[in-house]
Amino acid sequence: MFAEKTKKLMDEVVRLKKEKNAIILAHLYQRPEVQEVADYVGDSLGLARTAANTDAEIIVFAGVHFMAESAKILSPDKIVLLPEIEAGCPLADTITAESLRAKKAEHPGAVVVTYVNSSAAVKAESDIICTSANAVKVVESIPGDKKIIFTPDKNLGSFVAKKTGRDLILWEGHCNTHQRLTPDDIREAKAKYPNAKVLVHPECRPEVTELADGVFSTTGIINYVVNDPREEFIIGTEAGIMHQLLKKAPEKKCYLASPKLVCPNMKLTTIEKVKLALETLEPQIEVDPEIAKKALEALEKMLAIG
Ligand code: SF4
Repeated sequence: MFAEKTKKLMDEVVRLKKEKNAIILAHLYQRPEVQEVADYVGDSLGLARTAANTDAEIIVFAGVHFMAESAKILSPDKIVLLPEIEAGCPLADTITAESLRAKKAEHPGAVVVTYVNSSAAVKAESDIICTSANAVKVVESIPGDKKIIFTPDKNLGSFVAKKTGRDLILWEGHCNTHQRLTPDDIREAKAKYPNAKVLVHPECRPEVTELADGVFSTTGIINYVVNDPREEFIIGTEAGIMHQLLKKAPEKKCYLASPKLVCPNMKLTTIEKVKLALETLEPQIEVDPEIAKKALEALEKMLAIG
């Protein structure tokens, strides 16, 4: 499936990672050739757990900036490389430590639950972190009499509020990629594939999640497709997931809900850049120790919940 030139680069990356005692962690939204050279491919929760437990000296993080920061916070003694330093996340950029402090001042005593798609500085201002896989569990762990500020993804927050029946104070942030998926896209896909179940990510807008048969994290979507007896699925999350679906459930037919579901930030990481990062051990991710200490507390609270 890969061109000769790409295969050679992939072989070179595999050789280099062994030589340097490095581990490559790749998000499910990465390019197929990058996923193929990774030691672990998963969603934010799985990636955070793997980063916290690895024995490798170097972590190459094929993902976006906030993910590599989380890896550095969880494994401060390791070298953490982000092959493309400009790979950011527009959702994470909707909130800063200052703007969160201002929101906290408006709601004294509120517990701050922050989605992992956020900077280390924002995590440090938060009480507990969540991912799309465990957001419901995290909110359910907070006593019912407490006010909750949920940042920064409004769509995920709305989904969690609906699931838990809790009244959450929501931040006005969203993922540009998932926001592009519209109810009309889902209706059109359903008309084209009437036997398919619709599975979408909770970063999609509420009008879209309402039309779905299931709302799951990326790993949750893959597990559902693998285990469900249905043969056809319409997938409402970033296009990179299709590579793992093809590998894990080759007998099923999966259709991307819209060709608009491509995150340009995730695609900035190429196999050439992964190779260069391993050769030069740059660009390295550093996190201010004070910020890292506070962010770690919030991340560890999440990991204790599961
Ligand atoms: Fe950020 Fe959305 Fe891209 Fe994920 S898919 S990195 S949330 S912009």
